[in-house]
Amino acid sequence: MESSRTADVVVIGAGQAGLSAAYHLRRRGLEPYEGFVVLDANAHPGGAWQHRWRSLTMRDVHGVAALPGTDAPHPSDADRANRAVPAYFADYERSLALPVLRPVRVGRVTDGPGAALTVHTDVGNWVARAIVNATGTWGQPFVPHYPGADEFRGRQLHTVEYDGPGEFAGQRVLVVGGGASAVQILAELAPYAETTWATRRPPVWRDGPFGPEDGRAAVALVEERVRQGLPPQSVVSVTGLMLREQEKDAAAAGVYERLPMFARLTTDGAVWPDGRPERFDAVLWATGFRPDVAHLAPLHLREPTGGIALDGTEAVRDPRIQLVGYGPSASTIGANRAGRVAARNVLRRLEPAAA
Ligand code: FAD
Repeated sequence: MESSRTADVVVIGAGQAGLSAAYHLRRRGLEPYEGFVVLDANAHPGGAWQHRWRSLTMRDVHGVAALPGTDAPHPSDADRANRAVPAYFADYERSLALPVLRPVRVGRVTDGPGAALTVHTDVGNWVARAIVNATGTWGQPFVPHYPGADEFRGRQLHTVEYDGPGEFAGQRVLVVGGGASAVQILAELAPYAETTWATRRPPVWRDGPFGPEDGRAAVALVEERVRQGLPPQSVVSVTGLMLREQEKDAAAAGVYERLPMFARLTTDGAVWPDGRPERFDAVLWATGFRPDVAHLAPLHLREPTGGIALDGTEAVRDPRIQLVGYGPSASTIGANRAGRVAARNVLRRLEPAAA
């Protein structure tokens, strides 16, 4: 028999979004463990940050917002993001004594018993009245299907497997994808490897700085998609790309002269739409992620349009479920805000008079 525990609220995931929700649940009076618990599949604190590539420094990231109730971290530019951010999260969890249990992987969430939900994990079940889902996207890397992908005998990897440019020294690398990761990785690879950049659509470059007004407009666009139940776009896809100081040399060297997508991969490279073959040693798919929400499938939250429709952070098809770090809240600032909104919504359900 599987063991079963109860908590009013189960938060799934201890990245920025899950920790923000946990902070606000605690602040609004829910007791650790019997009131709420955070289940996290990683063995260590840090959410997806602990898995970012080794060469990603704090200078390269776009800014990590302070977790609620604390000061922003002040790492030096040279610090590795996959160490500095997890250390900050670990301190936060410890100093607030948040009830984070790990490694605990949620396999699925099902309806019942009664009005409750059952969270099935690899170490037993939790029965809860509400769920805050904060599982991010890192576990669902997306690689589009292109003809010939199975024939290519070189290395194919997604950004989740990239760990710095050194291993590509002297190679010919085809980088695919039009997001910020591709831009950053191309600059890193350029001194070591011969790079080619392919994207489906021409990249949209921003000239000026990205102000708060632009941020709000970009988030509003993604929010509208999610409200309609469409699959969420990344916020970057609507903000445009910017070159930073560390990318200027690569730009001057022509690294960002992008090509439209190849027609197919071959055993030793790619064929371009005009029929020209080109040899590559590796194809790096910087093609993004999808929300990591397969464990919610038994609840049938998905719309025929392909996404989970949300009203704020609340699933339209099941108001017991809050989604944070999803769509418009998939940034550290957005995750903070969503955690606060989700905690308020949950408390309103649990104690209608108190909220
Ligand atoms: P995550 O940090 O991914 O945390 C999710 C947690 O859920 C993980 O710990 C995972 O183990 C857990 N989990 C997943 N599935 C399960 C399961 N089934 N059971 C139990 N636990 C589970 N945003 C910024 O604001 N600034 C930046 O500079 C920035 N840089 C980025 C760089 C890269 C390369 C990428 C990919 C993203 C970047 N982002 C940045 C986006 C930002 O990282 C995220 O929006 C935010 O940190 C994600 O937080 P999260 O809590 O939603 O998810």
